[in-house]
Amino acid sequence: MISSVGMPTRKRSASPAPADGPLVDTFGRVHTDLRISVTDRCNFRCSYCMPAENMTWLRREGILTFEEIERVARVLKGLGVIAVRLTGGEPLARADLPVLVAKLAAIGFDDLSLTTNGVGLPHLAQALVDAGLQRVNVSCDSLDRERFASITRRDALDAVLAGMDAAEAAGLAPVKVNVVLMRDVNDDEVVDFAAFARKTGRPVRFIEYMPLDAAHAWERPDVVPAREIVERIDAVFPLEAVGSRDDDPAPADRYRFADGRGEIGVIASVTDAFCGSCNRLRLTADGALRNCLFATQESSVRDLLRAGSSDADLEALCRRVVWSKAAGHGIDAPNFTPPERSMSQIGG
Ligand code: SAM
Ligand code: SF4
Repeated sequence: MISSVGMPTRKRSASPAPADGPLVDTFGRVHTDLRISVTDRCNFRCSYCMPAENMTWLRREGILTFEEIERVARVLKGLGVIAVRLTGGEPLARADLPVLVAKLAAIGFDDLSLTTNGVGLPHLAQALVDAGLQRVNVSCDSLDRERFASITRRDALDAVLAGMDAAEAAGLAPVKVNVVLMRDVNDDEVVDFAAFARKTGRPVRFIEYMPLDAAHAWERPDVVPAREIVERIDAVFPLEAVGSRDDDPAPADRYRFADGRGEIGVIASVTDAFCGSCNRLRLTADGALRNCLFATQESSVRDLLRAGSSDADLEALCRRVVWSKAAGHGIDAPNFTPPERSMSQIGG
């Protein structure tokens, strides 16, 4: 069953960040995974992420150029980052994305992936593969057209399914499917999504709903605990755990169907946080480095870049940001306040 990694214990006192060695925080967590948001804009308005209207967008000149992103990524590669995932907003809404993918691929990360709502994939999948993209996760929260439209505020289920097909046809297999489950919204589809994983061979990742919605409407009872998701699927399609979270910093707890027909994963961001093994750093579209989705502070790497700073200055900033990482997201703490920016503004 789901292993409990819990909160880390502090290894070092709050001394200055180390000047060399791996990108480490005061709890000894080594950071090797970078999420890059390339835009805060999106063609969907998912209710758990964005408001229906009146979103305030970042100004274009405030958004990092591809050359600026490339420079930060190169500095972080030098500090031990091996995996990069592009996200947003909707990353495929950023013009010429394959150009950025080619720049990042040339840096030579072990893993270069993308999270998308999928609508742009029929048009872009081949160009992204040609540029060096290795993997893709496509978000899809309902297999029912009307419900999909009500969650995303766009009638686009068929377009998203076509996007998954296009990704596979371009060689991005396996296409993983991200599903945010919300109580009494789409949790009745949990077994349908398991059947979808079995039928298509696409691993489905069920993500617990987090308090990162623009409306600040999240409430704890809206969360469908990962353990419940596993139990409900296991009752219909028996599951076997694959590996253990203790051996793998990836946030998903993976399960294969006992009859060998595919797999699912659950991301227990709320009920069984993986903070203890978190190895992730985030770069927002406007160039803020964040050490956690829930961080209440961030540091502008863009300002350093545009002030003509050296790579050594950028490196020192990256080290400080990681060093100042908190033990965990603290959702259960009585004084928890969600970050000012919502999910699409940070980059999920
Ligand atoms: N637009 C792309 C997409 O939807 O895949 C990439 C950006 S989106 C912010 C990245 C992931 O975050 C998606 O899988 C989305 O479902 C998830 N997400 C957004 N808001 C969330 C929330 N409040 N709780 C949990 N996951 C969320
Ligand atoms: Fe857009 Fe992704 Fe947020 Fe949905 S979850 S509104 S597709 S950024």
